[in-house]
Amino acid sequence: MKALVKDIDGIGLTLREVEKPTIQANEVLIKIKSTAICGTDLHIWNWDAWASSTIKIPMTVGHEFMGEIEEIGENVENLSVGMRVSAEGHIAGSNSRNAKAGKLHLDPDTVNLGVDREGAFAEYLMMPASNVVALPESVSNEVGSILDPFGNAVHATLSFDLVGEDVLITGAGPIGIMSAAIAEHVGARNVLISDINDERLKLAQKVCNAETFNPTKENLKEKMKSMGLKEGFDIGLEMSGSEAALDQMVDAMIMGGKVALLGIPPEKINFDLSKVIFKALTLKAIYGREVFETWYKGLALLDSGLDIKNIITHTFHYTEFEEAFNLLNSGKAGKVVLNWH
Ligand code: NAD
Ligand code: ZN
Repeated sequence: MKALVKDIDGIGLTLREVEKPTIQANEVLIKIKSTAICGTDLHIWNWDAWASSTIKIPMTVGHEFMGEIEEIGENVENLSVGMRVSAEGHIAGSNSRNAKAGKLHLDPDTVNLGVDREGAFAEYLMMPASNVVALPESVSNEVGSILDPFGNAVHATLSFDLVGEDVLITGAGPIGIMSAAIAEHVGARNVLISDINDERLKLAQKVCNAETFNPTKENLKEKMKSMGLKEGFDIGLEMSGSEAALDQMVDAMIMGGKVALLGIPPEKINFDLSKVIFKALTLKAIYGREVFETWYKGLALLDSGLDIKNIITHTFHYTEFEEAFNLLNSGKAGKVVLNWH
């Protein structure tokens, strides 16, 4: 079968023939239909310090996908051939304290699809049946391929009660923008999303009704005044990984406000902890999804009318992967989808 493989110690990926996976009793074989490119895949493509020290080549990459079940192992129940599915790409172990307590998202032995084991940018993928999530007919193939980053947004955004609250989101990447849409959908009062890239702010306006803000061109205090905010934002969602954005967020929060941290700084940052203490802020770090609880909530939000499809700006055939990765590297795209079958 064809797969996109990291097999060179340098920039890029290779489209090449690899062996079609076989399955064991508790696994399923999925015929891949749509995949989406994540920032993680871009790090692997660009072969930066993180990627080159993490990925053992050769490795098929990719973890955002949907497809159709082609074959099921003999012990698999509740799944059948032909079902449209996606899957949780963090494959938890079963021995740690957290795994035994059912807190799979906190298991330190977790293995990541497309990073530590053969990924989804391929014609077929083998997955443990317990990680597979069935998709309702109402979720299109393309939206089905972005449920993993959507799940990051769901996990972070629903960390705190947003009803009637004023929300600041720093970073209008795909996850920040989907978070803005979720915050509005669940009843936040004001939602402001910031980015230093105007293209990203324009994309945000195609997905949600949040106010947008470019900190390199506008003054945040004035923007807040124009929105009728007197004391500051109640909830902050940091989704850029930028030190400057985090500083700005801490300054703009109300006393006692709550901040979810999802953005990953590329290196160690300087952070004014005393400001957080004197403002009595609550900080919550977000990693991945709260696994199946997040998948459930995410599908329920879509079922209740949340529309995220406009975050997908480009769709390519998998053979056009070079164009797709270069486009994403340019910062001019939202989610980029590769179709397989
Ligand atoms: P992205 O890189 O597409 O988006 C980040 C955005 O932040 C960019 O548009 C960038 O222009 C913007 N930005 C940079 N400096 C800024 C500033 N000072 N103020 C406002 N915006 C600024 O990323 P994404 O795919 O949307 O993911 C968001 C972040 O979450 C990334 O840092 C990513 O690494 C991280 N992430 C974390 C998890 C997790 O489990 N915690 C999972 C997936 C992604
Ligand atoms: Zn991802």
